[in-house]
Amino acid sequence: MEKYDQYGLWDYVKGLKAEGLIRHWGFSFHDTADFLDELLTEHPDAEFVQLQINYADWEDEIVQSKACYEVAVKHGKPVVVMEPVKGGTLAGLPSNVRTIFEEVDKSASPASWAIRFAASLPNVMVVLSGMSSMEQMEDNLSFMRDFKPLDEAENAAIEKARITFASIDKIPCTSCGYCVPGCPMEIRIPNIFRVMNTYKVYGQLAVAKREYNFARGSSSASDCIGCGQCEGACPQHLPIIDLLAEVAEVLEA
Ligand code: SF4
Ligand code: SF4
Repeated sequence: MEKYDQYGLWDYVKGLKAEGLIRHWGFSFHDTADFLDELLTEHPDAEFVQLQINYADWEDEIVQSKACYEVAVKHGKPVVVMEPVKGGTLAGLPSNVRTIFEEVDKSASPASWAIRFAASLPNVMVVLSGMSSMEQMEDNLSFMRDFKPLDEAENAAIEKARITFASIDKIPCTSCGYCVPGCPMEIRIPNIFRVMNTYKVYGQLAVAKREYNFARGSSSASDCIGCGQCEGACPQHLPIIDLLAEVAEVLEA
């Protein structure tokens, strides 16, 4: 927000609209619902917001899909959804979640559940779905051409899937970041644990490795020298050194 103010980006984009070079302006957002509320209060002329919304992260404390969506509704801003399939993660589901969906509709693809969830929200204007093959394009068209919002039984299945995901054992890191500043190797510990948790829940190794390479920056879990600084700073008392070793074994192999 400081940079946007410092470089006059709000005025810049409004100027483009005044010149007729763009028709509408809004912004993409990756932060807390409270901060979104602050932004939309200060910039009530924004015409839309682009949010990360997917059913698995709907009530996630970090992504805050639902809370951010509700803030957009409160301010009367239509939502453009990004990452409805969670970077492709929800396109390949663990068997216990797949079964929940198949009990309701055998023929619907896992991606269709994710995209239809986002598109069924009343305040959603557009759902952006990254597609990398003709097959994915045809699948998306098959249920979006003649779109039907999720019905009661389908919403119940989504809720069941969400509960199943939430019950999977994960690293209980809260992303507070207290462990990071003192790390002599500058390891992005919470980012790395977040990727590892995604792997634990969805079991997609190739996707997790790709995300890990992005999330770790220039230091890897295997760079840890075991100094213990982070473990002393962690309010959750996590065995960070052992957990990083586990991550290195799985995601750097
Ligand atoms: S134990 Fe490893 S991760 Fe923790 S501060 Fe030291 S080098 Fe960094
Ligand atoms: S201090 Fe602990 S809980 Fe906080 S980010 Fe680091 S590992 Fe996670």
